[in-house]
Amino acid sequence: MFDEKLKEECGIFGIYNMEAVGSELAVDTYLGLMALQHRGQEACGIAVNDNREIFHHKGVGQVDENFDDRRLNKMVGNIAVGHCRYSRTGSRKDKEAAQPLVINYLKGQLAICHNGSITNADKLRKEYSEFGAIYRSYTHTEVVAYTLSRLRMTEGSVEGAVLKAMDILEGAYCLIVMSPTKLVVARDPRGFRPLCFGRKKDGSYVFASETCALDAVDAEFVRDVLPGEVIMVQNGQMMSITTNVGKHPGALCIFEYIYFARTDSIIQGQFVNDSRRLTGRLLAKSHPVEADIVIGVPDSGLPSAYGYAQESGIPFEDGFARNRYAGRTFIRPDQMSREAAVRLKLNPIKKYVQGKRVVVVDDSIVRGTTFKIIVKMLREAGATEVHVRSSSPRFLHPCYYGTDVPDSDQLICANNTVEEVAKIIGADSLAFLEIKDLPHIVPDMEGTGYCHACFTGDYPCKEDAL
Ligand code: SF4
Repeated sequence: MFDEKLKEECGIFGIYNMEAVGSELAVDTYLGLMALQHRGQEACGIAVNDNREIFHHKGVGQVDENFDDRRLNKMVGNIAVGHCRYSRTGSRKDKEAAQPLVINYLKGQLAICHNGSITNADKLRKEYSEFGAIYRSYTHTEVVAYTLSRLRMTEGSVEGAVLKAMDILEGAYCLIVMSPTKLVVARDPRGFRPLCFGRKKDGSYVFASETCALDAVDAEFVRDVLPGEVIMVQNGQMMSITTNVGKHPGALCIFEYIYFARTDSIIQGQFVNDSRRLTGRLLAKSHPVEADIVIGVPDSGLPSAYGYAQESGIPFEDGFARNRYAGRTFIRPDQMSREAAVRLKLNPIKKYVQGKRVVVVDDSIVRGTTFKIIVKMLREAGATEVHVRSSSPRFLHPCYYGTDVPDSDQLICANNTVEEVAKIIGADSLAFLEIKDLPHIVPDMEGTGYCHACFTGDYPCKEDAL
């Protein structure tokens, strides 16, 4: 509605257990998607494989709005996949754009879940159209579906088609694909988006965008799916195909650690909350200020604010009460001013900020519109000084890899100096995490590289910078 927070495109989940009884895998998928809901709230869906036949249900809205006991009880099977979506391509209200995308083709059925953004989707769409392809939506998932169904005609297996598709699809994609007998999982060779693998005590194989979804179904984390890896599970056995592993330098989205991923997830061995606290500590070192309290903008700014307080020795305080029901209002954006919408969501706690010099920390400043209101509200609540700190560097460039970082003309920092931005939002001082500090917040593992293109313009696929 008013929210200028950046959004992920999707969360994906898949589970396989030959011995599964009734709807237990559908229920696990529901729980996994609930844990991944922060990655997409506009549409969702679950597909199950019942004795080689795929059934699915999907709809617009959040997971708990589309699935209840009655519906889940009917979803029986020993393989299940699920998806929650935030739209960048396709209409927000378009049910056709919801996933899993279930297709019928010459070799049978496939249910496809995709997280990311295919950077050559337009070119492929046109190419396939010339051979008669008909599309029901504008999503990249349909392009993935055509790519896989065409390749499956010449490759001997679904996993073979997925492996071959990596030579055609460019950009960011994590895939979970269900065929009548298999679960096939893949992560693009640069590994833009996280994808992990776990096992349950009952033997189930579980795959999810983040480890918080493994926790939700009581699965033990085994490892991250490698960039370029294809995994196939069939007849209770798992096979890993590593032909494309190491083909490109890694480019895991660094903003997953700063904002997108849930704080309790672990990515590449790094606890996300630790990364967020670290951003605060680094900010306090490079941009100290004399102040009485440190507060965070709930929820995403809180770990970083805590880190800033730890490092600076300035007391951490609860600066805002957050209305957790604000996102559910049915008042249209044009009926409510942006300021009223922000006030509905956040209320400064006067008792704590009155008469205080306040450091306020959040994860990012994108267009600057919301922060202007936040600073105003803090001053009205009696703050004598407001010093703004952003736990990400300045956003200067768009993202092509599955998030909605907008074009440069909409990014406040791409068009103004830091001093000018401070003036626009009304802050006494403003500072951002330094680019040089980014490597400190992520694990330094062999073979793991990071994408930071929206801050630096250094795109992992060089042609995207053009
Ligand atoms: Fe993440 Fe930014 Fe790279 Fe997009 S451009 S993948 S948001 S780091």
